[in-house]
Amino acid sequence: MANVLEARGLSREFGGFRAVSNVDFALKEGTIHAVIGPNGAGKSTLFNLLTKFLSPSEGRILHKGEDVTALRPPAMARRGVVRSFQISAVFAGLTVRENIEMALLRTNGIGWSFFSSIARRPAIRRRVDEMISRFSLDEHADTQAGNLSYGRKRVLELATTLALDPDVLLLDEPMAGLGHEDIGRITDLVRESGKGRTILLVEHNMRVVSDLADQITVMVRGEVLAEGSYAEVSSRPDVIAAYTGG
Ligand code: ADP
Ligand code: MG
Repeated sequence: MANVLEARGLSREFGGFRAVSNVDFALKEGTIHAVIGPNGAGKSTLFNLLTKFLSPSEGRILHKGEDVTALRPPAMARRGVVRSFQISAVFAGLTVRENIEMALLRTNGIGWSFFSSIARRPAIRRRVDEMISRFSLDEHADTQAGNLSYGRKRVLELATTLALDPDVLLLDEPMAGLGHEDIGRITDLVRESGKGRTILLVEHNMRVVSDLADQITVMVRGEVLAEGSYAEVSSRPDVIAAYTGG
């Protein structure tokens, strides 16, 4: 399997403190890959480096073998590498339908910019309807996003992101703050969304990781400690020690 996204010797310092230290990492095409590790391990920093929301202090990032270290997030989006919008980017005053429409309209590149012309409005409407039905948001289509439950907001967040049909989807703790039922629902949606694309997620919930991930990278203190399947990494004494503070 080809590497869609790769980090080589990637480091990021904050005032002399190395949050990510000399990380080599490869995201293989078509996989669901989880980055796990204790709090402060550098997972979000690595995520922000890979999504280009942070610049590395050292090292390189490659997309399909091409050096993209200097590219900004919109350029990555045009290449089909998209991170989920934060909930803060869901517009509380707009309905579910309008939010998905907005996501399509404001994203230039990815092949959707041409939709902004009036002539393409029916195509946008079709795409919005498709996402609403795929994410079981039918009942809520005309509800203002601000009035949705937290779980539904996260579903909407995922729907707005997937409306753009990314090749590579990056999610930082998609289950954070969710209850049992919502976790089940979003796990199913992520699994379903993984068909035909590559997903990288940072995730704390081990159940979710064992359910979803084909490949796992364990980070500790800014470095990669272990890689492999859930069974492989979860049985390693050094991984267990890192989680129990040993
Ligand atoms: P994780 O997501 O694994 O919990 P982070 O990547 O958020 O870890 O953080 C790793 C380390 O880097 C932590 O010690 C954190 O305090 C530090 N850190 C992260 N972002 C910043 C920042 N913008 N400025 C200073 N320190 C930071
Ligand atoms: Mg984090």
